[in-house]
Amino acid sequence: AAEIDKNGTSPEKLLAPVLSSFWDEPESWTLETYRRHDGYEGLRKALAMSPDDLIAYVKDSGLRGRGGAGFPTGMKWQFIPQGDGKPHYLVVNADESEPGTCKDIPLLFANPHSLIEGIVIACYAIRSSHAFIYLRGEVVPVLRRLHEAVREAYEAGYLGTDILGSGLDLELTVHAGAGAYICGEETALLDSLEGRRGQPRLRPPFPAVAGLYACPTVVNNVESIASVPAILNKGKDWFKSMGSEKSPGFTLYSLSGHVTSPGQYEAPLGITLRQLLDMSGGIREGHRLKFWTPGGSSTPMFTDEHLDVPLDYEGVGAAGSMLGTKALQCFDETTCVVRAVTRWTEFYAHESCGKCTPCREGTYWLVQLLRDIEAGKGQMDDLDKLNDIADNINGKSFCALGDGAASPIFSSLKYFREEYEQHITGKGCPFDPARSTVWA
Ligand code: NAD
Ligand code: SF4
Repeated sequence: AAEIDKNGTSPEKLLAPVLSSFWDEPESWTLETYRRHDGYEGLRKALAMSPDDLIAYVKDSGLRGRGGAGFPTGMKWQFIPQGDGKPHYLVVNADESEPGTCKDIPLLFANPHSLIEGIVIACYAIRSSHAFIYLRGEVVPVLRRLHEAVREAYEAGYLGTDILGSGLDLELTVHAGAGAYICGEETALLDSLEGRRGQPRLRPPFPAVAGLYACPTVVNNVESIASVPAILNKGKDWFKSMGSEKSPGFTLYSLSGHVTSPGQYEAPLGITLRQLLDMSGGIREGHRLKFWTPGGSSTPMFTDEHLDVPLDYEGVGAAGSMLGTKALQCFDETTCVVRAVTRWTEFYAHESCGKCTPCREGTYWLVQLLRDIEAGKGQMDDLDKLNDIADNINGKSFCALGDGAASPIFSSLKYFREEYEQHITGKGCPFDPARSTVWA
């Protein structure tokens, strides 16, 4: 990894390529390349520890879930009851679907063995002999690459029976979903994996108590598990030397939208969007940042006032958002806020699984109001209606999808109410009058 100086001002010093350190090498995805970069060394170190010591080590490293919620990974592993006589499962959530989020899929494509090594380590810790990867169904090339990497790992003795002579047996199944956003919600994912329609289950019980086939199950994000081998190999203190006290380590940020160089940037948690833009060439030339999201559209939108808010669970969290998936979608002054929020809300209405009324009905009505406003047919009291419907979804829905749908409504009305009003008083979109007739 490059030298990391979290207090430094040089953008180069803030880059912390670990998971992405050899993505641009030819055939980066093969076992041979992975081994050249210390691949499977973390596993050897893990197998030399007892499972309990391993869990304590990962807990001490401070690694937090990279899927969005930031739940401590070691603590999740510790929840798995021991000596209960039931099978334990590890399920890797690779159903990355949050708008703007594109870190797990490139990671799997370029460096699948980091995930497989992490899976073996995690299964040893939680005493599991069967792990699953639930992959987003649309990414067929990634599915093929993952199958090939799993085949290589079996052949080399990293999967199967008596792994590296340790007595550990582990089967790994790769399962492709069918392209539903809700199947990224961990309990809907489990239902889908069991062969049912993917809809969220009531929690508690959390999967750690009753997960796959009603057995104790750890559900972890791809990046969380893929980060574990490096922590074992280089040490928890090395990991904690990056990031902030409560959100340590390196992570993958997805930068998209009106930026000069969109893509994945690996850097410590706690850096700011200003620093990320500095190292990636900034907003496209001749334009300025208007609004952005820290973790896809399910997190509230921010403005240029928030460029220096640390991207960790305390910084962004304290500013009234969650960090979420670290999907930094940037929009410049040419973007119509109403249009962007309408598109996001259409997404949520389409992906709502329909199980609970606030989300199923609320997202539908939000779309109707937003389309009217965008088309210049809105009324001033529609803005209060938008707020009221979002309020009836937020915190009153069965799963986090509902809260995610309410989030851009609240934040856009907070920061850009005037722009909504302009659409109403001007009877159309000030950015693109032609669009006013789209829904007319
Ligand atoms: P959550 O905070 O409810 O749970 C996080 C994790 O901690 C879960 O695995 C849960 O089982 C576990 N957990 C929490 N409390 C527990 C307890 N008391 N005992 C045992 N386990 C416990 O969050 P969530 O609803 O699972 O996920 C919401 C997040 O998902 C959001 O932050 C959002 O950013 C993210 N998200 C990601 C994507 C993506 O594509 N990666 C898509 C949509 C949403
Ligand atoms: Fe389904 Fe939406 Fe309710 Fe979640 S909030 S259970 S996605 S209807």
